[in-house]
Amino acid sequence: WELLSRRVDAHSNYVQMAATIAHEVRNPMTSVRGFLQLLAKDLQGGEHQMYLDVMQAEIDRMNAILTEYLSMARPAQSLEWEGIHLAELVRETFLVLKGEANYRGVELGLKLTEGFRLEGNPRELKQVVINLVRNAFDAIEQPDGRIEIRLNEGVLEIADNGCGMSPAQIERIFEPFFTTKATGTGLGLPVCHKIVESHNGTLEVTSEPGVGTVFTIRF
Ligand code: ADP
Repeated sequence: WELLSRRVDAHSNYVQMAATIAHEVRNPMTSVRGFLQLLAKDLQGGEHQMYLDVMQAEIDRMNAILTEYLSMARPAQSLEWEGIHLAELVRETFLVLKGEANYRGVELGLKLTEGFRLEGNPRELKQVVINLVRNAFDAIEQPDGRIEIRLNEGVLEIADNGCGMSPAQIERIFEPFFTTKATGTGLGLPVCHKIVESHNGTLEVTSEPGVGTVFTIRF
C-alpha cells in the first residue's frame, strides 16, 4: 500500500512538473508570436509572407495544445464549485456559440427543460459544451448542417448531422492526441471526459458515418 501511494505521489509530481513547464513555455511563445506579427506587417505581400503565416499558425497550435494540456492536468478545484442551474448555463453557452454558427452557416438549435441543478464548476462545464459543439462544427461539411443542444433533466445531448465516425475511430477519440484534423490537438474530448467525470457524470457517443453523431452526458 505504501509503495502504491508513493507511486501515485511520484506520478502527480510529474503531472505537476509538466504543467509548470507548459505554463512557463507559454510566456516566451507569446512574445515570439508578437514579433512574428510585427515581421508579418513588414513583409506583407512579399514571398516570405507565407512562411510567417505558417509559423504563426504553428505557434497558435502549440498554444492550444498547452492550454488544453493545462486544463487536463489542473486538479479539480472543489473550492470553485457552486450550485448551478444547468438550463441557465446551457442557455448562456448557446448564445456564445450562436454567433459562430451563423458565421459558419450552420443551424444551431436548443431544446431545454428547466429545473435540473448540480454542484460544479461553471467555467469547466461551459468548456465541455463549447468543445463538443466546435467539434460538431468541424464535422459538418454539407450546406444543410444542423446541430442541436438538448437538455432533459440531467441528460445533455449535442447532436449533429455531420460526417460521423466509424467504430474504429470511436474507439480512439478519447485518447489524448488522437485527431483527424490537420490543425487539431486531440485533447478536446479527453478534457471533456475528465471534466464530466469529475462532476460524477458519464460521457457517451453514438455515431454513424455519413449520418451524424450524438454525444450524451448524464449527470
Ligand atoms: P480535435 O478536435 O483537436 O481533433 P478532439 O479530442 O476534440 O480533438 O476530437 C478527436 C477526434 O474525434 C476529432 O479529430 C474527430 O476525428 C473526432 N470527432 C470529435 N467530435 C466529432 C463529431 N461531432 N463528428 C465527427 N467526428 C468527431
